Amino acid sequence: MTEVSELALPVFNFDNTFARTLEPFFVSWKAAEAQSPRLLQFNQELANELGLDAGALNTEAGAAIFSGNEVPTGSTPLAQVYAGHQFGGFSPQLGDGRALLLGEVIDSNGRRRDIQLKGSGKTPFSRGGDGKAALGPVLREYLIGEAMHALGIPTTRALAAVTTGEEIYRETVLPGAVLTRVASSHIRVGTFQYFAARQDTKNVKTLADYCIERHYPQLKDNDNPYLAFFDAVADVQSALVAKWMGVGFIHGVMNTDNMTISGETIDYGPCAFMDAYSPKTVFSSIDTHGRYAFGNQPSILVWNLARLAETLIPLIDPDTDQSVNILTERVSAIPSTHESYWLSEMAKKLGIQTATREDDALIKDFLTLLNDDSVDFSLAFRTLSGILRKNKKEAEDLYKNTSAFDEWVNRWTRRLKKNEDSPEQIADAIDQINPIYIPRNHMVEAALAAAVDATDMTLFSKLLSAITKPYDEVADASDYSLPAPKSDVPYQTFCGT
Ligand code: AMP
Ligand code: MG
Repeated sequence: MTEVSELALPVFNFDNTFARTLEPFFVSWKAAEAQSPRLLQFNQELANELGLDAGALNTEAGAAIFSGNEVPTGSTPLAQVYAGHQFGGFSPQLGDGRALLLGEVIDSNGRRRDIQLKGSGKTPFSRGGDGKAALGPVLREYLIGEAMHALGIPTTRALAAVTTGEEIYRETVLPGAVLTRVASSHIRVGTFQYFAARQDTKNVKTLADYCIERHYPQLKDNDNPYLAFFDAVADVQSALVAKWMGVGFIHGVMNTDNMTISGETIDYGPCAFMDAYSPKTVFSSIDTHGRYAFGNQPSILVWNLARLAETLIPLIDPDTDQSVNILTERVSAIPSTHESYWLSEMAKKLGIQTATREDDALIKDFLTLLNDDSVDFSLAFRTLSGILRKNKKEAEDLYKNTSAFDEWVNRWTRRLKKNEDSPEQIADAIDQINPIYIPRNHMVEAALAAAVDATDMTLFSKLLSAITKPYDEVADASDYSLPAPKSDVPYQTFCGT
């Protein structure tokens, strides 16, 4: 048998600015040896986008790289340091406890992307953890990240999932796996907090300069680049959370170490898509007080950004009081920034391309109907197009109080008459923004169970293809569009990634 180390390793054109520029922000590290790595899932389309040789990676050599056993030329594996508020309490020392940044590549669109292994073994930041990841959560992150991408929501993405051949220990013994994750960077609010908590203003400034250069180069010549940087992060995060609210996505663990500077969704641990609409929906088993409930996400957004603002105080103005005043004002403006993104997102879901203030009541009254009758969030929006195509039944069947729904439909259709577009055009636009296929919890669980318990990837592959074309209805796929059969046991997700 050919030894993997004798194989010519596929080429990555690494250009590692993080490793070159941010010495105090990481430790160089090597992945733990995986016993018998096997490439279970490979993202051909993403590999092409990254300018990688997909054919050469979808092989034994790829499995060796994506398990961490082989370090490709130009890679400088490192574990990043960060801190963070977890469920409101500050942890001054976190970091990549089971992840390694392999390096950065420039993709075919000229964008710089991190390539990171997750589940690659202990690092100096592992605290009590084993540094490993189980197959189920790795495939879950793969699926949900790809679903989010297909829904047009900024996100990290999965390039590969490898099984390591090892058993790892959670509540039960599980197969070990490594996820290769691609992000526009892995810098978090918590990265800023690490240095700010140590009153290390020099390094906060180094990090801010690096982030501006990498993510917001247009701000370099601004009068106050650090304030402009804060506004930019607040803006992308406000838009991101509005998009989550538009698809019923519950992140589940919006700690400050899980909130990126780039505005991408990161860390798909206990996340899930809401089925029946209720702002109080919580799926995570550890979120006992509902801090990260669906309807709380916009306030947590503001809370997290306030933590970022605190780290920037020394950079905004030499006078601390003045800095605090300026930043406080900026933080106070975030709710209205988020609300305007939300209004525009939700109005589009109703077929209204240009939202006005009055549309706010129309949207909120619709959500009240969904809440009152526990209507499936995704189907409620998707079936609106049917009404415009003179097929009201599918929508109406979702409601108990059909007269309240009919009344709302009358208001909504009156509002749509102000559009220039024909009902058929509006119906098409509604179908283009409201997915018919989301990763429904019971379908995700079934796909992961088959993969983990029976090494059968058939359900995973089918689900992946449905959710990566989320707007195009296909025949015989109602399993993927319908809510789970009613169950007495509420759905729960677990953080044990
Ligand atoms: P998360 O909840 O996945 O965002 O992780 C929070 C922190 O715990 C991060 O610093 C992770 O690196 C660390 N962590 C999570 N799981 C493990 C593990 N199995 N081994 C070591 N560190 C871990
Ligand atoms: Mg995390």
